[in-house]
Amino acid sequence: MNIHEYQSKAILKSYGVNVPNGMPAFSVDEAVENAEKLSTPVVVVKAQIHAGGRGKAGGVKIAKNLEEVRQYATEILGKTLVTKQTGPEGKKVNRLLIEEGSNIKKEYYLSFVIDRQTARVVMMGSEEGGMEIEKVAAEMPDKIFKEYIDPAVGLMPFQASRMAYAMHFPQPAVRKVTKLMGCLYNAFVGKDCSLAEINPLVVTADDDVIALDAKLNFDDSALFRHPDVEALRDESEEDAKERRAAEAGLNYVNLGGDVACMVNGAGLAMATVDIIKYYGGEPANFLDVGGDSTPEKIAEAFSIMLDGGQAKGIFVNIFGGINKCDLVAEGIVEAAKIISQDGKSLPVPVVVRLEGTNVERGREILKNTPIENVIMAPTMEGGAEEIVRLVKEAEA
Ligand code: GDP
Ligand code: MN
Repeated sequence: MNIHEYQSKAILKSYGVNVPNGMPAFSVDEAVENAEKLSTPVVVVKAQIHAGGRGKAGGVKIAKNLEEVRQYATEILGKTLVTKQTGPEGKKVNRLLIEEGSNIKKEYYLSFVIDRQTARVVMMGSEEGGMEIEKVAAEMPDKIFKEYIDPAVGLMPFQASRMAYAMHFPQPAVRKVTKLMGCLYNAFVGKDCSLAEINPLVVTADDDVIALDAKLNFDDSALFRHPDVEALRDESEEDAKERRAAEAGLNYVNLGGDVACMVNGAGLAMATVDIIKYYGGEPANFLDVGGDSTPEKIAEAFSIMLDGGQAKGIFVNIFGGINKCDLVAEGIVEAAKIISQDGKSLPVPVVVRLEGTNVERGREILKNTPIENVIMAPTMEGGAEEIVRLVKEAEA
């Protein structure tokens, strides 16, 4: 789960991380009021969306007086920001962060993530702050430093010092930055984060160390123990289909293409996405319906895939283990009933590959309830090839 920058900063502040004073604003008037309360010579007006790259897209503005705050707030609020991370459709700005300006001497990068290889939290730092870390990694990999953290002892002081010197912090800032690293690590662990990123972390003209931007991502599987974090969810920032699927207990990720697929098991779902690509199609989604699927769950999965008209075809790829093929077949029949009045048609072609437990009964059900547009495929390869062909045909 993602939250907004101002929410991340509030959490980090509670762990002792130095962040600028600031307040969220939901209207232009509130933005000006907040700026007045800050009463600092420079105020930063920042778009709050669940995506980075706002600076370059005009979502971060520095105002020198209240008129400028009003002007920038009016410009940014309600605007759709297109940044490198939003995709071409952009994200609408509904909230701002009104923050005191900082006198930046230099920008740095600091983050904590989980390293899969070592199964440890790793701290990453670079003196190339402000720019995208992916770009630094590609162009100047020797400018990124890493410290792998032993979970039994946490971030050790010598690791923080080694990082601070590697990142070339000026001497008067070193103690402040090593302290900040410790606080950020505590926040990462304390809130079950999957990412805690400060870009930029800045040293000011007075050698103060401030987290100027903050991004926290949380491990969804641990959210049950953080109701305070769960309460920060901004549904307007989330994919509507992904949310609906989560409510139905389905594992769904929107991939943007037009060949939808419904699969059981994450591995087979990945393989299905791959094979659709292999035959020249663009997968609309990753969808793992899980084991023990009921007909109702399958019908809901169909309804989600067909919602919004993005899918031009559906590939059902089920290898029945714990799942029973007859229940999946019943789900398809159920979906047809919900979606069309007569229960005999579906709006897009559906190719079904069923294998495994109760497969004969499953095939029987689909044969006895003939639904227009449902085609049985003998193999996974054949099925993938067929659905890609049908979708291309529908587009032509
Ligand atoms: P992002 O582009 O979405 O990552 O947004 P950031 O919060 O990182 O802001 C982008 C850039 O705006 C930063 O790298 C800074 O250079 C600049 N910026 C943000 N806050 C301030 C500030 O208080 N003072 C000054 N001078 N620049 C700022
Ligand atoms: Mn940033």
